[in-house]
Amino acid sequence: MDLVKLIHDELPQIQCGRCDTPGCYQYAEQIASGVVHDRCVPGGTETLQNLNKILVKNITSVDMSYGPTIPNQVAVIDESECIGCKKCITACPVDAISGSVNLMHNIIEDLCTGCELCIEPCPVDCIDLIETDKKKSRANSQINFNTTSKLRFNESKKKRMDKANKLNKDIGIVINTKLGNRNADNEKNLESLQLKILNDQLDSFHNFDENQKSNFFKDLNQKD
Ligand code: SF4
Ligand code: SF4
Ligand code: SF4
Repeated sequence: MDLVKLIHDELPQIQCGRCDTPGCYQYAEQIASGVVHDRCVPGGTETLQNLNKILVKNITSVDMSYGPTIPNQVAVIDESECIGCKKCITACPVDAISGSVNLMHNIIEDLCTGCELCIEPCPVDCIDLIETDKKKSRANSQINFNTTSKLRFNESKKKRMDKANKLNKDIGIVINTKLGNRNADNEKNLESLQLKILNDQLDSFHNFDENQKSNFFKDLNQKD
């Protein structure tokens, strides 16, 4: 089997960059090319020992200067404090935060690896980390990391995202005005805002045709 893949499979998939690389796959590539394999502090001794076996080496301790470690955790946003600045979205390596400029943001718990990269950029300190037993959230993080990286370096997609953000902001203003009216059905207005944003994003990012969109919404309704 490919050495990079063997090494990568042993890394914790948190994509935190503490090993001085952008993410787990890049560190696996570096290890395969001879870089020392003791830098993954979140993986700890268990990861180190597994890498020792693969590489037939015997490093006895993790280099804690790359730490501190990361427990099994997910981020949560205090929505009442969030000012919708989007800084956390830009920092998240696996696109686990949803939200639009000037609107509150949410963590998509199943995608969040607990990497802590969104904590420091938040200007109002409204993101917390809570420990969890769930380990499943990290399983697909490399796919999400790769997709997020591609999107960030794709100029035409970036432009479409900026356009969609402006659109979402405009929709948000309309909805907030409606919410300010007496007798407004807040729940219904918010639901239609979310559906409108989702519909626009299926157009902008995924180029869904009407048929694909109809199937997507059908699936969504069935899940509800
Ligand atoms: S979990 Fe963090 S420190 Fe460990 S390999 Fe992945 S990116 Fe590097
Ligand atoms: S939401 Fe925060 S803690 Fe979770 S993966 Fe994204 S940056 Fe990391
Ligand atoms: S960085 Fe903080 S305030 Fe800004 S959108 Fe994210 S959670 Fe909200």
